[in-house]
Amino acid sequence: MAGLAVSGGGIAGIAAALGAARAGHDITLLGGSTTPNLKGGVQIAPNGWAALESLGLGDAARACSTRLHTITVRALDSGATLIRLPLHDPYASFGRAALAGLVEEALGGTGRVTRIAEDVAHIHQDDGHVTLITAAGTSHKCDGLIAADGGKGPGRRHVTANGSAGVSAEKVAMRALLPLADMPAHFALAESNLWLGRGVHVVHYPIGEMVNLVVTLPAARTGDGWQARLFGASSPLAALVDGQIDWARTALPVAATAGCWRRGHVVLAGDAAHSMPPHLAQGAGQGLQDAACLGRHLGHEDDIEAAFTLYARERAAAVSRIVQKADISGRIMGLSGPAAHLRDMVLNAGGPRLMQNWLAEVWSADPSLA
Ligand SMILES: Cc1cc2nc3c(=O)[nH]c(=O)nc-3n(C[C@H](O)[C@H](O)[C@H](O)COP(=O)(O)OP(=O)(O)OC[C@H]3O[C@@H](n4cnc5c(N)ncnc54)[C@H](O)[C@@H]3O)c2cc1C
Repeated sequence: MAGLAVSGGGIAGIAAALGAARAGHDITLLGGSTTPNLKGGVQIAPNGWAALESLGLGDAARACSTRLHTITVRALDSGATLIRLPLHDPYASFGRAALAGLVEEALGGTGRVTRIAEDVAHIHQDDGHVTLITAAGTSHKCDGLIAADGGKGPGRRHVTANGSAGVSAEKVAMRALLPLADMPAHFALAESNLWLGRGVHVVHYPIGEMVNLVVTLPAARTGDGWQARLFGASSPLAALVDGQIDWARTALPVAATAGCWRRGHVVLAGDAAHSMPPHLAQGAGQGLQDAACLGRHLGHEDDIEAAFTLYARERAAAVSRIVQKADISGRIMGLSGPAAHLRDMVLNAGGPRLMQNWLAEVWSADPSLA
């Protein structure tokens, strides 16, 4: 057996490598010319947690995350609370580096992984084998490839007819990670906070001693002084106007599920299969679910093509609705003018039940992971 290859060392790639290694496969993990962006944080919702548990990472994940107990939605203009949703199931924030670190540690512990720090340039399939040619010109033959090389990687181009996933030209996210000690006390509450403005929304949550901030706004409104224009002196978020804050501008992926997830012995995972805007905080969690699902099918099926087929069928069906909902959520959050006013009234009237109903479908973990 030549074993399996995984392309891409982001969260989906290393988690998929772990799932496949735990299922008994030797893994060649390719990629590394670009370091994954490990700045800032992610929230992992109950479905992502189910995947972490399924991958055997539950205890390690609890030890390095911050449990969040409520989602609070407020109006940015008035500061009024629109919804407070208590979180009974596991929901936590992680530093990206901490999340990747715990997966890497478990992966190293399997003793089944060989790393090749070269990007995949070409994918070729023949006679039930996959041959990967790297950018450095080396060749690697394997029984199957899990392509987790992101929305613009070679995996998606090889498997689908609809090519690379795009990014939004209209909206961007400005991200920052700051010490809680430098911020007003309300930033330290163990809550996930969403502030809805006019064409703008802000998310913040604590991660250990830090606070993770994401401001989503139209690209056209990010000129010099954007913070002062968004957060006036009387705003509860006035602390964000501080000129010392180092904001990272991040392009937002557009919602796009791959039309096809498998071609022969190559299957997609993570953003390569399902890129989505971050408005439901689901991208990384879905990548973890892909990994857990792959691991389960590879553990039950000797035939790689059969395992990839079952995985692709199951995950494509589960994810497409979530990608759609992430997109719709972003449109609702981005409303402005009278529509935004109406949105705030509806959210306030609907309360936690409305939000719970919206999220229940998203968070219901793949039942087969239980
Ligand atoms: C502002 C923002 C906030 C977010 N917040 C959350 C959140 O709270 N919760 C959540 O679950 N998700 C969140 N996400 C989404 C999450 O960050 C992504 O879905 C997740 O990181 C994707 O992981 P991935 O491994 O699939 O892809 P990537 O992280 O894109 O990794 C792909 C890897 O493939 C490598 N690669 C590329 N080309 C090649 C090649 N030719 N050969 C080999 N390797 C290659 C790249 O270098 C990279 O390391 C957020 C996203 C954004 C933008």
